[in-house]
Amino acid sequence: MSALEFDFSEEFALKMDREDPLSTFRDRFHFPKVNGNPAIYFCGNSLGLQPKSVKSYLDRELKNWADLAVDGHFHGEDAWYHVRKKSKPALSEIFGAHEHELVAMNNLSVNLHLLMVSFYRPTPERYKIIIEKGAFPSDQYMLESQVKFHGLNPDDVIVELSPRTGEYTLRTEDILAEIRNQGDQLTLVNMAGLQYYTGQVFDMKAITAAAHEVGALAGFDLAHAAGNVPLYLHDWNVDFATWCSYKYLNSGPGNISGVYVHERFAERPDLPRFAGWWGHDEGQRFQMEKGFLPMYGADGWQLANSNVLALAAHQASLDIFQEAGIQNLRQKSEQLTGYLEFLIKKISGESGILEIITPENQSERGCQLSLLIHRGGKAVFDEWYQQGVLGDWRNPNVIRLAPTPLYNSFMDVFRFGKILEQSLKKFA
Ligand SMILES: *Cc1c(COP(=O)(O)O)cnc(C)c1O
Repeated sequence: MSALEFDFSEEFALKMDREDPLSTFRDRFHFPKVNGNPAIYFCGNSLGLQPKSVKSYLDRELKNWADLAVDGHFHGEDAWYHVRKKSKPALSEIFGAHEHELVAMNNLSVNLHLLMVSFYRPTPERYKIIIEKGAFPSDQYMLESQVKFHGLNPDDVIVELSPRTGEYTLRTEDILAEIRNQGDQLTLVNMAGLQYYTGQVFDMKAITAAAHEVGALAGFDLAHAAGNVPLYLHDWNVDFATWCSYKYLNSGPGNISGVYVHERFAERPDLPRFAGWWGHDEGQRFQMEKGFLPMYGADGWQLANSNVLALAAHQASLDIFQEAGIQNLRQKSEQLTGYLEFLIKKISGESGILEIITPENQSERGCQLSLLIHRGGKAVFDEWYQQGVLGDWRNPNVIRLAPTPLYNSFMDVFRFGKILEQSLKKFA
């Protein structure tokens, strides 16, 4: 839908909600309140809302634990021993990968390190890593500490991509040019799939192809892409990826992460990795013998036995995703975010107070719009918050708003537009 078809009236928002085939999913979530009223929740990029069904999924495992205790590991269809398999069909749709290429485990920053152990193998000739400048701090700390762990100097190794002067986001052609420029010194491109600050989606397919052309690998941090934009990791030939489940995947604060490892690495017991008993061949695990034999595929990167309660909450949300369908979600998402963009541009117009820095091109963004605040600073955000808008403020000067297609409505966006209109008068 082009911006021209949007309309400024309340009737338009009401009509869009009436015609929205996903509109009933909103009722499946708990909404927080601000000043006693249900919030306009645009913060799914930071912490997704709680599905009402989470409680029953958790209760079921609590009951299994109470009734079966240790027997729960092998009892019936809920057997904890195999619990990791339950999430695979949904993860497969969300990430566009084979089930054996995916496994839910650990937390994101932990997984970033584990993947680096296998996929960052610097040699004196080939040791450089490309990342976008201003990457999420955990990713920066991870990279620097990994580089130092190998006895190298981060300044010699890490190549940061910056936007052109006067621009806020990266051009694909510039990313690809830098990959070619680093050429046979490059061993890894390790970027976000969707940049948390600007909301830009990178062309993972093209970046991966360029990395492979110079003999390097490509891995992505999908924290902000997971459950937000359709992904085709296998077909894009991406080497590895990780994400978290508490943002768009609505699985609860700090909940479980996951990893993707392309099937070309499925049978590579020679790949260095930090091993644990849960990555060891499932059939022989309880023989408790010496000699690590990794499981086929991503499962071979597991260390510890599955966090059953975390996976239960995760599953509640994944089941909702499967029901809604990632393509349906994307279709609504483009409309919802397009509508937000239309209202912001129309209302803030030439005020000079704020500017959207997220790309206009749909294929280069997910649901989030990042607004650079030129005047008023955090007071603008505080004012919106007082009116019930839950977005987030990111230093130095960005407000991120993420209308999510699962639980946000066109009326949410319309109501935000009214609040924006009022607030701009204060900062004029
Ligand atoms: C949210 C986020 C993280 C958070 O890492 P945790 O290990 O889950 O605390 C890391 N990297 C990026 C890019 C993120 O967006």
